[in-house]
Amino acid sequence: MSGRLAGRVAVVTGAANGIGRAYAGKLAAEGASVAVLDIADGSGTVADIEAAGAKGTSFIVDVTDPDQVAGAVGDVEAALGAADVLVNNAGIYPNQPLDDMSITDWRRIFAINVESMFLTSQAFTPSMKARGWGRIVNMTSNSVGLVIPGFTHYIASKMAVIGLTRGLATELASFGITANAIGPSLVRTRTTEAGPGIFFEVVPQMQAIKRVQLPDDLTGTLAFLVSDDAAFITGQTFYVDGGLVRAG
Ligand code: NAD
Repeated sequence: MSGRLAGRVAVVTGAANGIGRAYAGKLAAEGASVAVLDIADGSGTVADIEAAGAKGTSFIVDVTDPDQVAGAVGDVEAALGAADVLVNNAGIYPNQPLDDMSITDWRRIFAINVESMFLTSQAFTPSMKARGWGRIVNMTSNSVGLVIPGFTHYIASKMAVIGLTRGLATELASFGITANAIGPSLVRTRTTEAGPGIFFEVVPQMQAIKRVQLPDDLTGTLAFLVSDDAAFITGQTFYVDGGLVRAG
């Protein structure tokens, strides 16, 4: 394989569907071998990776389970080699009014959206540290800067992802590892399509670029952040959202 990521091994969580699947295909097109970690069947994504001419494997892994995450490290290494790139993409976003939200709901959001990233980052970075090169990209959301009812737990979790990313950047910089976050707008995936259709009318009208965002709108930013070109960028959050949220 040639390309910016030739010889690299990437792990993408939640890559059986949606944005993660597009990420896996792009990383493969850039030359990386890609491991799909998901609770759902990732064979479709592996077919995409192979169609791009790269090596791919999928593993059924619940990223909230410390033992499964620890086991995945050895499984990925045996199949493809030690991970150089970790994309923490798995996440859920159920809309739920505050009054209906139980502590179990709250903890589930944090387990999947935040704790999973702590577990994978801790598990996959020792081999990056040993080689003095690594990339972590975490999925947050532009909803942290918007007024969206029913998202208290989700927005809190995605703010925590930004904090986690900053902490990782500080701890890992001396090992040649960067950590950044990407925050999309509303992206058309099978999961968002199952929600209220009105969102697809309203949200693009708030963006500078007034069309519905697609998973492929995010892949170029990911490929850049995990490349050598982005070696001096860390701890940052990139809102790839058609110009909706303006930070700073
Ligand atoms: P999706 O529902 O299409 O895909 C998410 C994947 O994560 C699924 O394949 C699912 O099986 C997997 N997953 C869920 N729980 C898991 C677990 N415990 N262990 C392993 N895998 C698990 O989601 P999407 O729309 O592609 O969103 C991907 C990421 O982007 C999420 O973190 C989401 O919060 C974020 N995001 C999405 C949007 C959007 O509009 N789609 C907007 C902003 C941020």
